[in-house]
Amino acid sequence: MNKYRKWQYQMLAKEMVGILNQKGYDAHYAENLDEAKGMVLRMIPPASSVALGGSETISEMELVDIFRNGEYHFFDRYQSLPFDEIVEIYRQSLLADFLVTGTNAVTRQGELVNVDSSGNRVAGMIFGPKRVIVIAGANKVVKNVDEALKRLKNIAPMNALRNGHKTPCTETGRCMECVTPERIDNVIGIINHGMKFEGRISVIMIAEETGF
Ligand code: SF4
Repeated sequence: MNKYRKWQYQMLAKEMVGILNQKGYDAHYAENLDEAKGMVLRMIPPASSVALGGSETISEMELVDIFRNGEYHFFDRYQSLPFDEIVEIYRQSLLADFLVTGTNAVTRQGELVNVDSSGNRVAGMIFGPKRVIVIAGANKVVKNVDEALKRLKNIAPMNALRNGHKTPCTETGRCMECVTPERIDNVIGIINHGMKFEGRISVIMIAEETGF
């Protein structure tokens, strides 16, 4: 990465850690994805039950194999199973000890803004799993909720393509406002702050670009 861009991301990630800690999250700074991965694994004790939220950042961290093969009870939504069985794993995941997920946007006021196809990730971030660990590259930071919603709309075609959804945007690269069962952006969740269950949501801010 260009050293000036990196410097800017370092400043932004550090500033966001301060803002997020003031809003009741347990926020941490990480220099890069590897450092963030180490922090995630240190936060989760052996024998914990763990669920993952679908995200390009989680894919980049290659956590699936670690949780499959480690001393964890892993709610493995990445198996090749009929969709109704995957949905059952989504349901069980809501009682996990830890949900590890990326986020689609973090506002400068400390809001976490996320979009889902099924809603399982958004639901678990809001309530259910005892702890939530959110991994966010500095590229996810936006000015406010309006900008976050624009960001969500902009990245939706990439997420549709990544998840193999047959939607019009995977043909055009931009939203075609479809109304189809395969629509990728059915549910939007906004977490305003972390104060109700202070420290339940950890946010690891990474001083580089991760995910979309
Ligand atoms: S509404 Fe449809 S076309 Fe638009 S981004 Fe979502 S899935 Fe793609």
